[in-house]
Amino acid sequence: MNNKLFKFSYTIVIFVLALLLSISAVSAAESFGPKPLEPQLSSDGNTLYNAIPAVVLRMDMNPPPDQERIPARFDMLTLPETATATFSITYVANGGTDLWGKTCATFPEEAKASFNAAAALWGSLLQSSVPIAINACWSNLSESGILGYSGGGARFRNFTGAPLTNTWYSVSLANALHGSDLKSSGFDMHITYNSNFTWYYGTDGLTPKGKVDLMSVVLHEIAHGLNFSGSLLNSNGTGSWGNSTGYPNIYDTFMKDGAGKLLIDTGVYANPSAALGRALTSNNIWFHGAKAMAANSGQRVKVYAPSTWSSGSSYSHLDYDTFKGGENRLMVYAISSGLSTHDPGPVTLGIFKDMGWPDAVECKATLNESLLLHIPNLSYIETSSFWADLVYEFNLNYPKSILFRLKNYNIIKNPSFPCAASTLSADFKIHIPDVLFPDGTTHLWVDLEYYPSLSTAENSYFVVKQFGAVSD
Ligand SMILES: [Zn+2]
Repeated sequence: MNNKLFKFSYTIVIFVLALLLSISAVSAAESFGPKPLEPQLSSDGNTLYNAIPAVVLRMDMNPPPDQERIPARFDMLTLPETATATFSITYVANGGTDLWGKTCATFPEEAKASFNAAAALWGSLLQSSVPIAINACWSNLSESGILGYSGGGARFRNFTGAPLTNTWYSVSLANALHGSDLKSSGFDMHITYNSNFTWYYGTDGLTPKGKVDLMSVVLHEIAHGLNFSGSLLNSNGTGSWGNSTGYPNIYDTFMKDGAGKLLIDTGVYANPSAALGRALTSNNIWFHGAKAMAANSGQRVKVYAPSTWSSGSSYSHLDYDTFKGGENRLMVYAISSGLSTHDPGPVTLGIFKDMGWPDAVECKATLNESLLLHIPNLSYIETSSFWADLVYEFNLNYPKSILFRLKNYNIIKNPSFPCAASTLSADFKIHIPDVLFPDGTTHLWVDLEYYPSLSTAENSYFVVKQFGAVSD
């Protein structure tokens, strides 16, 4: 028997980019990006404004050899139809300023297209009913080596829908869990890019040498705004967390030292303390979420914690040496030029799921050995535009899993779409051609279209509209 998995989720993020600078042998710490904004606690204590730190993505001047581009898992041409979360991107007009006071120039149309594509890709990976608002600035940054930066969004705690009490969630994640917009105004994240840098604006992943793939960088920064960052800091050797509120960020709650002790366990590490500061520069910090670990061969996930604290890089990235060369490289602290990374990889997606990003539309269905596909009863779908995408991972060890992805925009946007209410009674036959590839790496895919005129109260029928076999 085979399994189909529905996957949906959604997102928000924040970041900073900087060129890799040589580390001064005498400095105890390094810092990139604008001066951090001071977090402000609301009068009721449940909102922390300007709480999301600026996180940096730097240029990798010594990248691992023989890296291959990582394509998006979706057909970019159909992405708008697959969105499970939407982004509202405001490009600051020429002469305006960003959150930190930098003057913005006209955002190039080509760069907008790249930015939009990255947002749309996240919108197909994650799920939220609340549009994610980004303020984007294109600026002639005077600071040398800075590719760009982002941050500045709010964090919320103790809202309806929060999985954990007294725990901070970035606004994008909080909104996704809450089901409506918790913020009264403003943006979920602010992102500024350096107009002086040599960017590649294409979304095809064919980034030439010497250029930085903007879409990859936007994907990275959006991930930070989706809560891929925490509150732990090292200030002149003293470690602390919680932005003086006493409450951790959801990201912090999974972080352990090499001995398996929680970094936010004040019985182990006082807050603040030099001991915590040492832990944060121990090169021995690990994310212990179950789903991220499952995506990492069952192993804890190493987090970037170099011996010199690097503000904007340390703690809020995957470990460079561990992940720089593989499918999870998007969230290491540095990016190579001439290379594209258009998928976050399973570990990062696992981290998001561990932190609570809704996974409401993950459904399972089965494919039996006579290739009868059972699709959930979709009789309550009211639109004829529904269609589905199906991926059959075929190899000689039949049966194999199936990925079945709802692509109807309206259905996907509705967070109440309940997989649990679906049934697997709607038998219908799909002829899947017997395409065998000897190496077992071939994917066979089928596009299906819903024909409401053929539906009954009990069953929904799908007709194969097109199909094909694609060799990896
Ligand atoms: Zn980053």
